[in-house]
Amino acid sequence: MFQRAALFILFLAALPAAADDLSESVRKDYDEHLAELFDYFHRNPELSTVEFDTARRMALELNLAGFEVTEGVGGTGVVAMLKNGEGPLVMMRADMDGLPVEEKSGLANASRKQQEDPITGNTVYTMHACGHDVHITSLVGTARHMAAHRDTWRGTLMLVVQPAEERVLGAQAMRDDGIWERFGKPDYALAFHVNSLDVAGKINITEGSPFAGADTVDIVIHGVGAHGAHPYAGKDPIVLGSQLVLALQTLVARELPPRWPGVVTVGSFHSGTKHNIISDRAHLQLTVRSTTPETREILLTGIRRIAENMGRVAGLPEDKLPEVTISTESVPPTVNSPELARRLRAEWIEALGEDRVILNPSKGMGAEDFPFFTVDPDITAVYWQVGGTPQEDFDRAAAGGEPVPSHHSPLFKVVPEPSVTAGIESTVIALQSLMAE
Ligand SMILES: [Zn+2]
Ligand SMILES: [Zn+2]
Repeated sequence: MFQRAALFILFLAALPAAADDLSESVRKDYDEHLAELFDYFHRNPELSTVEFDTARRMALELNLAGFEVTEGVGGTGVVAMLKNGEGPLVMMRADMDGLPVEEKSGLANASRKQQEDPITGNTVYTMHACGHDVHITSLVGTARHMAAHRDTWRGTLMLVVQPAEERVLGAQAMRDDGIWERFGKPDYALAFHVNSLDVAGKINITEGSPFAGADTVDIVIHGVGAHGAHPYAGKDPIVLGSQLVLALQTLVARELPPRWPGVVTVGSFHSGTKHNIISDRAHLQLTVRSTTPETREILLTGIRRIAENMGRVAGLPEDKLPEVTISTESVPPTVNSPELARRLRAEWIEALGEDRVILNPSKGMGAEDFPFFTVDPDITAVYWQVGGTPQEDFDRAAAGGEPVPSHHSPLFKVVPEPSVTAGIESTVIALQSLMAE
């Protein structure tokens, strides 16, 4: 007991004073204001593109914090500006949409909200099953802290409340609505995601690509229909499509450098109507994932090359070769500026201590629409993750108990505290570093 107390005192003594002040004031604001705000957002999730009440509440909160607020940017998007002397323009983004999922987390504040789904027209349950309620609550906390501590920074702070991340529409919609032209093009762009796979309160930062790029690709194969008993009289798109599915796998296996990750998944293959009819058409639907623009280029040009040439191999005429369409719904990979990631990592370690900052790269190839803010024109950007699951939950899962639920699951739950406060701490430290006096 004594030993533990002594260790605790040593630990306290080792903590830097600045972080103490920041953590204390953020915790206080959480207790007095943000906890209730999080609760409101968690109980009232809204679907992509129809985040009307969420946007209105965010506009109100950011306005009360002292920001100049513009609503209706790219649909329901909100832009809040605070000018504080000469200095860089820095943008911090938080996405605000929920998902069409019925919450089964068992939490006291679980959502029972229903909303008309703008895609299907059906009324569905909605849930903050990705933790975007953490992002927006943190953004308000950041706004309040930065406004109250104007003596610690110089420049212009742009807070962006983004709609429709889950449908990868919102960032592009805000760009199309002239966000840079109307409010200025940022020198730096920042964002974070709460992560159920990291321990609550930890800050997870990678120099590489925290989120993959995703491309949606359609391939239409034009065959020549015939009787199933007379295959020589037609061109069978099912046989060609099958060869194509396997040939596409060589892109990752044989064309990408083995240390460059990529995924080519044919998720859907539709053709034909009946046993004895050779169809005249096949339709393949692909998702393609990459973590660098170079990988993306190799995969997308490779798909086109293989599809067209497999058509030639099958003897199709030049005007009937397979048609490859890359959807505009695609997103580029989220790529961190390595230099800025290193710099912020060092700042976080110095301010919060070594044990708060981790490196836990994603094993999957999930995507984000944040890069629409950071490419064309390129803006120096860093995207990090903030842990959302208590250590006890990982321990219980490791001992054979309930597994930690993933994002988008009806069971998804992250703890708002310390997720929200860690989001604010890491954002404020990053902003104060980039906008140092
Ligand atoms: Zn999500
Ligand atoms: Zn998300």
